[in-house]
Amino acid sequence: HRVVCDKMVGETEGTGIVHIAPGCGAEDFEVHKAQGIGIVDPVDEAGRYLDGFGQLTGMSVTDVAPIVYESLREKGYLVKKEKLEHRYPVCWRCGDELIFRLVDEWFIRSDALRKRLIEAARTVNWIPDYMGRRMEDWLNNMQDWCISRRRFWGLPLPFYYCSDCGHITMVGSKSELAKLAGLSIERLPELHRPWIDAVPIKCEKCGGEAVRTKDVGDCWMDAGIVPFSTLKYKEDREFWQKWFPAEFICEMREQIRLWFYSMLFMSVTLEGRSPYENVLIYEKVFDEHGEPMHRARRNVIWFDEAVDKMGADIMRWLFASQNTAYNISFGYGPGKEIKRKLLTFWNAYSFFMTYASLDQPDVVLTDAPADGLAELDRWVLSRLHTVIHGATEAYERYNAMSVVKQVEAFFDDLSNWYIRRNRRRFWRATSDTDKQAAYQTLYTVLTEVTKLIAPIVPFLAEEIYQNLVVSVHPDAPRSVHLADFPKANMELVDASLEADAAVAKRIVSLGLSARNKAGIKVRQPLGKMLVRLESDDERGGLERFMADILDELNVKTIKVVDSLQDVAEPVVRFNLKLVGPRLGAKLVEARRVLESERSRVYDSAIKGGLVSLTVDGEKLSFEPSELVLGLEGREGYSVAATGALAVALDTTLDEELMVEGMVRELVRHVQVMRKDAGFNVEDRIDLYVACDDQVRSRIEQRIGFL
Ligand SMILES: [Zn+2]
Ligand SMILES: [Zn+2]
Repeated sequence: HRVVCDKMVGETEGTGIVHIAPGCGAEDFEVHKAQGIGIVDPVDEAGRYLDGFGQLTGMSVTDVAPIVYESLREKGYLVKKEKLEHRYPVCWRCGDELIFRLVDEWFIRSDALRKRLIEAARTVNWIPDYMGRRMEDWLNNMQDWCISRRRFWGLPLPFYYCSDCGHITMVGSKSELAKLAGLSIERLPELHRPWIDAVPIKCEKCGGEAVRTKDVGDCWMDAGIVPFSTLKYKEDREFWQKWFPAEFICEMREQIRLWFYSMLFMSVTLEGRSPYENVLIYEKVFDEHGEPMHRARRNVIWFDEAVDKMGADIMRWLFASQNTAYNISFGYGPGKEIKRKLLTFWNAYSFFMTYASLDQPDVVLTDAPADGLAELDRWVLSRLHTVIHGATEAYERYNAMSVVKQVEAFFDDLSNWYIRRNRRRFWRATSDTDKQAAYQTLYTVLTEVTKLIAPIVPFLAEEIYQNLVVSVHPDAPRSVHLADFPKANMELVDASLEADAAVAKRIVSLGLSARNKAGIKVRQPLGKMLVRLESDDERGGLERFMADILDELNVKTIKVVDSLQDVAEPVVRFNLKLVGPRLGAKLVEARRVLESERSRVYDSAIKGGLVSLTVDGEKLSFEPSELVLGLEGREGYSVAATGALAVALDTTLDEELMVEGMVRELVRHVQVMRKDAGFNVEDRIDLYVACDDQVRSRIEQRIGFL
């Protein structure tokens, strides 16, 4: 016996000495390669001993243990016989015990291609770009590619051994095979096993009979050849040239060392270049709670089931909306959220269809603005072209998430501002330029957005396009997917108008949340709202859209103030995560100082300034982000704020406001009753109200309004 040293065996475990069998283990084989021990390869493919192993010959490896220790005992070498528990490889399908065995395999030497693969990978636009570095790492470290597999089914490797001279003939095509085999291979049902193995060929060197190796190929060879096999590379080179290379492919990260790699490998070998130009790589798809999907966890959602329950377009929007650099979350919960967002757009479309089917307005396919545009029309067209511009750029960078975010923001603008503020223009009974402008504007917006989102939601977009466009314009392209992609017209973009409207929307949303906090419905008019602006830039937006804001919030007046401290109490706390460690034992005293100086602290922090406090004689300063700022309305005020923009609603109701609120409430009830009774707008009704004298006098004051 020889004893050799190797780092794979340590002195901390067992005796520090192990026996090795280079014919039956990968590590053992490596030691053999380094030390030249010699290989004994005693068993065949079925695990039976070959000739020359005495009484073991013909026996299975699983049956010989008793013979081996009996032989050791006879020779006086057996020290002890006992059972040890250890990990052992088994067949994944039937559980039978397996052994390692040295076999010959086919490899492609990677060093021959490594440099060219790396160069080709560098020409690719990897998204996110660090995936390109992952691919380069893989290429730098890749081993020789073992392309053979001992399976029955698979790509038959075209290597033929000559029994006479030992030469290996490699067959390169069907016609070569036919020529060397001397028969028409069309007679074979398939070029797979078992049929292919029944066809011997003539050795290209000596003319003797050559037989195919039993091995089949690694499945990644088939996958890697996709850019050629599916594009008629062998049959129709012109066709192939039209489609190769692929502009865009998309798969998960694991494919760097599998599919992306094998395609690159084949393409560099055959054509000396990458088979793809842009590769979008995503992380894993998990369930909506961030857990991997497993049958055992019962959280798997099958594709077909999801399509049935959720809808294919919702799934596409859901996937498109996510950052592919992180795990993607998928489930019915997020699906519902997406449905709600898409319904916003669907409802805008359905609003248009409802009124257009009554009025039959004369709408044309144009991206030019109509005559007599109102400011809101100009605004929504400006937003439209801003979004077309931004979304087109994002599409070109393959950033679907950015497309989705921009379009979702536009859905909200369209539905919760444009249509909401414009409804009355569509309600009017008469037709005039203003109404026509509103119809044409909304029509343009809907058709352009439909085309813009068609790549992500092809079914929804087609449905809308067919109704909106094809049914009224027979000459238009007959599918949204054949229509030209929208073009941004930057002349229609008015950045300051958009900024002003954004301010108005923010103020309205703060006002509504202040109403909500106070539990006062929008129907109840309020006298006054105070607004503290973030900066003077916002004054323009407030003034420009004053009428809209007053109407949306149902308040009589809005007043801009520098400070809300007369009507609201500032609330200031430390952001403990940020300052806790720094303050340490001084925290209690610091809190006391902060509380006693909260007005001054609030005023300076809200303007973004550093805040200084003297704690235990030491002067400390804080960034505004290290503080949590809030406002609490004093008696009679309800306050809402985001950052420095804040509103305070005066919630006191005088007699006048109360009467108005009550009458509006009454009107709403009557309208519901009219609707339930099936009355039309022009039907006149008699109204009876049962009430006490006080209410009666209030109603009588407003009888004209009623
Ligand atoms: Zn098995
Ligand atoms: Zn030969």
